[in-house]
Amino acid sequence: MTRRCPECYAELPDDAVWVCPTCGYTLHTPAAAKAGIVFMLLGLALLGVFVYGPENLGLTSGIMPTDLANLTIANFPLLVVGAFAFGAFLAAAAALKIRSEQARLQTA
Ligand SMILES: [Zn+2]
Repeated sequence: MTRRCPECYAELPDDAVWVCPTCGYTLHTPAAAKAGIVFMLLGLALLGVFVYGPENLGLTSGIMPTDLANLTIANFPLLVVGAFAFGAFLAAAAALKIRSEQARLQTA
């Protein structure tokens, strides 16, 4: 069975995994891109918590060890930046993967 591009309906060669060689349509969104978006949303959510005040979360009310709760609160900006940066990194890596396949197919 030949696969066809859902965008331009051109036949897809076996090595076209991520992008259509004819129109450049993204056939699959790499899992890394999805994970990247999830982490960036997480970073956004954490930023919301940071604005609200991480000490108001009730972390110190006994759900987790007090030391860990205090550590989490103390390092909260780091947590926000970390989640966001990690998400951006994954999304960028996925974009590069797509980009490189597009370049490879164009020179083929
Ligand atoms: Zn196409």
